Amino acid sequence: MIQREGYRVIQALVFAFLLSIGGAFGATHTVLKSETFYSIAKKYGVSLSSLMAANDVKDPRLLQIGQKLIIPTSSSVESARTQPQKKSLRIVIDPGHGGKDRGAVWGGVKESDLNLKVALKVEKDLKARGYTVIMTRRSDVFVSLEQRAKLANRYSNSIVVSIHFNASTYTSVRGAETYYAGTKGKYLAQSIQKEMVKNLKVRDRGIIHRKFSILRQTAYTAVLAECGFISNSYERSRCVTSSYQSAAARAIVAGIERYDRTY
Ligand SMILES: [Zn+2]
Repeated sequence: MIQREGYRVIQALVFAFLLSIGGAFGATHTVLKSETFYSIAKKYGVSLSSLMAANDVKDPRLLQIGQKLIIPTSSSVESARTQPQKKSLRIVIDPGHGGKDRGAVWGGVKESDLNLKVALKVEKDLKARGYTVIMTRRSDVFVSLEQRAKLANRYSNSIVVSIHFNASTYTSVRGAETYYAGTKGKYLAQSIQKEMVKNLKVRDRGIIHRKFSILRQTAYTAVLAECGFISNSYERSRCVTSSYQSAAARAIVAGIERYDRTY
């Protein structure tokens, strides 16, 4: 495209001005004769889809000479692609037991280890989705229930999800169950329980209202997920696998996300 020099200077000045006020939206472009969405996208080094999205255009053929288009900056396009939107709900993830308190121990498997493995996967997944995650422990250390509740209560607009594995002297018992306190806790427990049954393909032992210490002492919505019975040899053989732990983590995250969309 041939342009007179003066026009080009003015265009450059307008471009610079728009860049300075444009912020995250970047610059604007006035459509010239013979230009297409594709050629404009190419000119500014942005993708056709991001250019169309920035201008709320569904059909790229509907382009008019003189029309002003918002040019998304490549950095804002990039950050939108790599950085998830920051979520306001904060999640306290509480891997049960730890250190001297091993929780249930069956067949050489410590509950405290499994709890931590699932919890770290949940933490990673939630952070990738833009949530602020607070962990009550991130290694094999003892943390008292009072300390856990105290930590959780320091964060407003937060929910607490305790992660455990179950055990019973009746070794035939198996399946997943979720405990809760409060009305919102009930919904969160339902969401997590539903996802666990679907993802882990385990027996649905339902949700149970019970005032566990961590559920009683936290000021906010709190639930306690029991991801499977390590006292049952079949279920234990599944619980120790990384794939089972990942599926449990995915279920907990999916349950939290559904809760967040509702409340
Ligand atoms: Zn436990």
